[in-house]
Amino acid sequence: MFFIAVCQYIDMVCLQCRSNTQVINSRLKHRSNKVWRRRQCIACNSTFTTEEACVYALSLAIKNDEGLIQPFSSDELFLELYKACAHRKTALKDARALADTVTNLLIKESTGSVINSGNIKTACLIVLNRFDKVAFSQYQAYHP
Ligand SMILES: [Zn+2]
Repeated sequence: MFFIAVCQYIDMVCLQCRSNTQVINSRLKHRSNKVWRRRQCIACNSTFTTEEACVYALSLAIKNDEGLIQPFSSDELFLELYKACAHRKTALKDARALADTVTNLLIKESTGSVINSGNIKTACLIVLNRFDKVAFSQYQAYHP
């Protein structure tokens, strides 16, 4: 017996009138591996923007020193990097870009979908050391 899987493409609906939309522009954001799309409603012509990204919490897991495994948290990584960059005027933007860089480094260095928690600290220190010495020291102080 054969089973045929049919993938139906589900489209976003208009924020205003709930009608179908079409993509009128799209771009790949290489560093963050996100797809940015500008959509337009077929019925009322209103436009809005969407972003497609990997859900790391459902794709990667972190294993701590005691062997406990938990979902990877992009938010937690961002907050830790933001704290280290708090002295910078562009801390929000910097922390977002640094979180993308650290995440990409972790994925590149890992052999599977489970990452050791110590590797996160090491990756953050490597990236911060290249970026800002004060942020590097701040992060190191928070993560002895
Ligand atoms: Zn509409």
